Formats: sequence, C-alpha cells, structure tokens
Amino acid sequence: MTDITSARLIAMFGKIAEAIEAEKDRLCALDGVIGDADHGIAMSLGFSAARDAVSALDSAADPTTVFNTAAKSFLNAVGASSGPLYATAFMRAGAAIKGKPSLTEADFIAAFQAMAKGIQDRGKAERGEKTMIDAWLPAADAAGERFATGGDLAASLAAAVDAAKAGAEATKNMVAAKGRAERLGERSLGHMDPGAASAVVVIEAIREAVAN
Ligand code: ADP
Ligand code: MG
Repeated sequence: MTDITSARLIAMFGKIAEAIEAEKDRLCALDGVIGDADHGIAMSLGFSAARDAVSALDSAADPTTVFNTAAKSFLNAVGASSGPLYATAFMRAGAAIKGKPSLTEADFIAAFQAMAKGIQDRGKAERGEKTMIDAWLPAADAAGERFATGGDLAASLAAAVDAAKAGAEATKNMVAAKGRAERLGERSLGHMDPGAASAVVVIEAIREAVAN
C-alpha cells in the first residue's frame, strides 16, 4: 500500500466530522440518559473545528502538524470532558510519528494505539469503568494484534471497529466509575456510555478514510 500522506489525514478528519454530525442527536440522547445530554454537540463542535483547522493547513504540513493542529482546535472548541481527552489523543498520535513526511501502515497503527493510550493517560480511566476507554483500548489492542500477526492496515482497522463495537456494547453492563455518570452508580446500568458510542463512530470513520 502507498504511504498515508498528510492530505489523507486531513481527509480523515473531514470523514470523522461528517460521521459525528450524522450521529450527533443519538450521542446527545445517550448522554441525556446518564450525563448532561451534550456529548453529540461536544463531539460535533470538536471535530468540525479540527476539520476546519487541518483543512486550512499549508500543503507542505507534515503528519505531526496535522495531528497537533487537530488537537489544539479540538481543545479550544470543546468545554466538555471529551475536549482534553481527544486533544491528548491527537497530540500523542502526532508525537508517535514525529518527523515522518508520510506514514507507513505500521506508523499509522502506532499513531492509532497512541491515541488510545493518550485518552487513558489523560482521563485515568481503567477498563470496566464505563467510559470511551472501554471502546478505545480493545480497539487499539485488536488493531495491534491483527497487524503483528500479518494483517494489513485494512484488516487491522476492521478488527479495531469490531472490538470497539463489542466494547461499547459491554458498557451497558458496567456501573460508571468515572465522569459525570459516576454519581448515578447502579442506575447507570443498562445504558450504553455515550463516549464509547462516539468512539465507535470515530474509529469506523478512521477505517473508512485510511483503509480503503
Ligand atoms: P461531559 O461529561 O463533561 O459533559 P461529554 O459529554 O462530552 O463530557 O463526554 C462524556 C464522555 O466522556 C463519557 O461518556 C465518557 O465516555 C467520557 N469520559 C468522562 N470522563 C472520562 C475519563 N476520566 N476517562 C475517559 N473517558 C471519560
Ligand atoms: Mg456530557
């Protein structure tokens, strides 16, 4: 496969913004049940700001600059807790591929895994605490495992999507231990975590944008 260029990454942010926009109401509704009903709005503001900022970059911008620009604009646009979490994800992705003019499949897998790790480091959530981590960590692990055992980027990101979906579904059986839903305790049972649901949307859009 040919390398993933900055132009492809810029298109990826466009794809994510479009996918989130289409799911905005569903994400707000999920957040309405166990949070404050703004998750779709937060994600939409964040990704449309990121899309606009990266689209305005000079054509010579390297992949790290694309991710750093997305991080900064996402953070500035979002007041909710998802703001710093995704901003950290993109900063870490940029750091993981620092100095590279374009990305190999292995580089992209490293950036993808760095996103999940960044969200975990920033939010300090563990698996099972009913957050976006319950979708992101299994997705990053699945992508890494598939790639390490000979899968290409498309197969690895397809595995990531499947794992994220299973992880988001599993949050229905979790009691929230982080974020706004924590105050609900047992009453959070039976409902999907909105951040895990949006992670599926983001990861699916990433797969569509870079692995076709
Ligand atoms: P807020 O809760 O500030 O309104 P959002 O509605 O945008 O922010 O995002 C809520 C989502 O953020 C939750 O569904 C959860 O997935 C995620 N989240 C909250 N706190 C954390 C954390 N410490 N670590 C990881 N994810 C978290
Ligand atoms: Mg919210």
